[in-house]
Amino acid sequence: MTVKYVCRHCAAPLGEIDNPQVNELQLGFHFLTPEERSDIITYSQNGDVLVKLTCEYCRKALDEHPELNMVASPLQ
Ligand SMILES: [Zn+2]
Repeated sequence: MTVKYVCRHCAAPLGEIDNPQVNELQLGFHFLTPEERSDIITYSQNGDVLVKLTCEYCRKALDEHPELNMVASPLQ
């Protein structure tokens, strides 16, 4: 499967793992609570996995302006 990492705030691509051998244990998904999993992991219909993270740019913005976290797309 292909695992794609994108920023949840600005949708910037952060990386991609294209490896049919990779599994959720290797990705560390089992460390997440069910709530976190459903929040950050999206399974697309073609079998790919979309992992929503926060890129460095957005993390910095959120650190400086925590109130932005309440807004869906603070940088648009
Ligand atoms: Zn971002």
